[in-house]
Amino acid sequence: TDLYAPNRKNSQGWDLHCLHDIAQMDAARSQFKSHKWTAEPILASTFKGAQAVAVINPADMSDDLGHVIDATEADVEAALSAAKPWIDSSPEHRRDVLMKAADLFEENFGEIFALLTREAGKTPADTIAELREAVDFLRYYALDIEKLEIRKGNYGPRGVFACISPWNFPLAIFAGQIAAALAAGNGVIAKPAETTPLIAGLAVKLLHQAGVPKTALQLVPGPGRVVGAKITSDPRINGVCFTGSTATAQHINRAMAEGLDPEAPLIAETGGLNAMIVDSTALPEQAVRDIVASSFQSAGQRCSALRLLYLQEDIAPIFLKMLYGAMDELRLGAPWDLRTDVGPIIDEGAKQKIVNHIQKAKSEGRLLKTIEDPEGGYFVGPSVISVSGLKEMGEEIFGPVLHVTTYKPNKLNAIIDEINDSGFGLTFGLHTRIDDRVEKLTQNLNVGNMYINRNQIGAIVGSQPFGGEGMSGTGPKAGGPHYVKHFTQKPIKRKKK
Ligand code: GLU
Repeated sequence: TDLYAPNRKNSQGWDLHCLHDIAQMDAARSQFKSHKWTAEPILASTFKGAQAVAVINPADMSDDLGHVIDATEADVEAALSAAKPWIDSSPEHRRDVLMKAADLFEENFGEIFALLTREAGKTPADTIAELREAVDFLRYYALDIEKLEIRKGNYGPRGVFACISPWNFPLAIFAGQIAAALAAGNGVIAKPAETTPLIAGLAVKLLHQAGVPKTALQLVPGPGRVVGAKITSDPRINGVCFTGSTATAQHINRAMAEGLDPEAPLIAETGGLNAMIVDSTALPEQAVRDIVASSFQSAGQRCSALRLLYLQEDIAPIFLKMLYGAMDELRLGAPWDLRTDVGPIIDEGAKQKIVNHIQKAKSEGRLLKTIEDPEGGYFVGPSVISVSGLKEMGEEIFGPVLHVTTYKPNKLNAIIDEINDSGFGLTFGLHTRIDDRVEKLTQNLNVGNMYINRNQIGAIVGSQPFGGEGMSGTGPKAGGPHYVKHFTQKPIKRKKK
């Protein structure tokens, strides 16, 4: 139950172990198996549009999904001048519209499913989880409207938010940012990731269909250097919500400093160098399963994914053998297939970066295990690389690559320092059966989300608010009780005459 909204329930989704659900899901998505879409700027006025660019399936280059027409600079300018807060509606109306949008997302799950799979390369399990998360965000933030007493006029909108979202959660994070900004009564100009504009186009259409006015929500697909740069430095923007790399967040921060009101917040969720500790009291079968999920599910393309495993020295040989065995069981390939465990990397450039990293480790004799890349798309086989510690990791590698180091039990304090000193602090995992150790690590590590004896991905809206510390984000946590509040401001009290 939720402290603030006791009747709130998370979306049920579809169960991939239930034949009835599978049949229902398959019938709904199959209508969209070779469907073609167009994404274009969705403005309060008409758009000019740049040249159309083809959108492809990262798992299958021959699968043509349609195309995207990017917003031109003139289109972004039109969006900025038409954008208005959604304040003219009552808080109750905003809540009902967002709740309705959540229902529409669920009703359109066949099309959403096909898009998430074909455009973003999501496996069926990830697709179901993502649709659920999007729906949960919409409902959770809708109910926040009352919780924050926006209805009593204590908090008002800031104005217009720029929402810039990532391709790895092209529906959930895209819709979550927008829902939070709208819940607070702001207007939104949304810029989707360049690789996933189609799903964003569908989401915006459904939000408009639910009743969000066009002036309160406009979509401007296009490259960061054109669209993103303009909307993060224009004084008509009153706040920026961003999820993506730490480098881009820092860039946005600088652009905002030059163009925006100094009060305008940057709500950013960025990268991490997430660690897990597995000690000799851990249950190996469970730890192996959770490591495989944390490192290789979604092909490692989650900012929460496990990047560095600290393995207690004395269990390392047998444990790694079990891990490699589990990796051999993974089914890699096209994610339309319901049995697929690991799908593709989002695009060629991202794949190349990961492959180069694996090749380098191989040439240095540090590649412990790798699975052959399947053919036909931007696939990378899950791999394990040995490192001496966090300092040797370099930048975050956004793919199915697990780094491993071993430790002696008396070195736990040094590991805590190493993780805290990295400057990142997103997720952390611990497998142990020693209560004192749980206590020590939870008390001393500066990370946003800590998971004990389970995997460290897939935070659930309402129960596991998600967000990091330090270079991993500015807080507040998404899907938590303080998120919407950051999109509001206290109205300036008028002086009595
Ligand atoms: N919330 C997601 C999770 O817990 C990660 C979000 C992201 O990758 O940006 O897995």
